[in-house]
Amino acid sequence: MSIARSLLTVSLATLCSSIALAQRSDVPFRGGIPVAPSGLADKPLDIRDRLVLITILVTFTIFIVGVMRYGWDFDQMSALFFIMGVVVGLIGRLGVNRTADAFVEGFRSMAFAAMLIGFARAIYVVAEQGHIIDTIVNGLFAPLSHFPVGVAALGMMVTQFLVHFPVPSVTGHAVLTLPVLVPLSDLLGLPRQVTVLIYQYGGGLCNIVAPTNGGLMAILAAANKVVIVPGYGMAVSQAQHKVRELYDALSKRGVDVKFGIHPVAGRMPGHMNVLLAEADIPYDKLLDMDEINGDFQQTDVALIIGANDVTNPAARSDTSSPIYGMPILDVDKARTVMVIKRGMSAGFAGIENPLYYLDRTLMLFGDAKGFVGNIVRELTGGGH
Ligand code: NAP
Repeated sequence: MSIARSLLTVSLATLCSSIALAQRSDVPFRGGIPVAPSGLADKPLDIRDRLVLITILVTFTIFIVGVMRYGWDFDQMSALFFIMGVVVGLIGRLGVNRTADAFVEGFRSMAFAAMLIGFARAIYVVAEQGHIIDTIVNGLFAPLSHFPVGVAALGMMVTQFLVHFPVPSVTGHAVLTLPVLVPLSDLLGLPRQVTVLIYQYGGGLCNIVAPTNGGLMAILAAANKVVIVPGYGMAVSQAQHKVRELYDALSKRGVDVKFGIHPVAGRMPGHMNVLLAEADIPYDKLLDMDEINGDFQQTDVALIIGANDVTNPAARSDTSSPIYGMPILDVDKARTVMVIKRGMSAGFAGIENPLYYLDRTLMLFGDAKGFVGNIVRELTGGGH
C-alpha cells in the first residue's frame, strides 16, 4: 500500500505548503499548488512566516528522530504532516474554515491521481496476495507446450498481449511473465531472443489498443511542469497534430508544457520546428537544447515522443560510445521520464540507450500518433 500512502503523504504535504502560503494573501495558486509570484523573494519574513518555518522544521525533526529511533513510516509521516498543516493554518490565522478550504484545495490536485493509483493497487493487491496472477500466468502458458514451436510462439505473443492489460507496467510485466516464458521457450527449443521479442511485441500490441495505464495518467495528471521532446519517430508517425492536442489538454489542466528541441532531432535541420509549427504549437514554447537543459531538474515529466539518440546519456559519460561528446537533451535529470516508441529498437546511431533502463523511466510502447491520441482521449474524458 506504499504508493497509496505516499500519495496521501504528498497530498498532506501539499496541504501544508498550501496552508503555509495561503496566509499570505499575495501568493497565487495554480491547480491547488501555491506558485511564487515575482517579487515575493524580496519581501522580508514577518513573525508568522518565521513561526510557520519553525513548525515545519520541528515537524521534520520529530519525523527524522521517529524514523531513526522508532522505525516510523508513511503512516506517522502522514499524521505529523496533518497536525503540522492544522497548526500552520492556525498560526496563519486562517481559522478552521479556511484551513479546511486549503486542505480541499491542496487535496484536489492529487485526488484524481490518488484514485487511479488506489484502484490499480487494489486490483494488484488482491491478485498478488491471492496468488491469482501466478495461477493465471501458468494457466495461460502451460497449454502452449502442446503445440508446434511456431504456433506456440504466436500463442505466447497473444498471451503476453492479454497479460499486459491487467499488468501495464513494462517492468512488472517482465517480472511476471519472463520467469515462465524463458524456461518454457527453452523446453520448446525457441531461441531466447525470440522470447524477448515476443514479450516486447505482445506488450506493444496491447498498447496500441489500450496504451494508457493508471500510473502514467496519474503522473501526467499530477505534473506541474512537462517538457515534451520530439524526435524522428514523431515525424514518421506524423503525430504532431496529436501532440498539439496533448499540449492543449495539459495546458488546460494548468500544466506548464514546453518543448525541448535538439538541433539534430529528426532527419533534417529544423525538422521538429517545421512539424510543430505546422501543428500551430506556439513558437515561444519551443526551446532549443541550450535553453531547456537547465530546466530538466525542475521538470516533473520529460515526455519523449519518438526521440532516441538525442536523449542518450551515454553521449555524456561513456567514452567508448560512438556518440560520446555529442550534446544531448538532459532528460534523465527530470523527475520522471516517459518514452513513447514502438519497441526497444535503436535510433539512427544504432546504439543502446541506457536512459530506458533507469528506475524513473517509463517505457510506453506504441506508435507515437496512436499513443499520444489515446493519452489525449483519457485526459479529455473521452477514454474508456
Ligand atoms: P533517432 O535516434 O533516429 O530515434 C528515433 C526513434 O523513433 C527510434 O528509436 C524508433 O524506435 C522511434 N520510432 C520510429 N518510428 C516510430 C513511430 N511510428 N512511433 C514511435 N516511435 C517511433 O531519432 P532522434 O532522437 O530524433 O535523433 C536523430 C538522429 O538522426 C541522430 O542520431 C542524428 O544525428 C541523426 N541525423 C539527424 C539529421 C538532422 O539533420 N536532423 C540528419 C541525419 C541524421 P522504435 O523503432 O523502437 O519505435
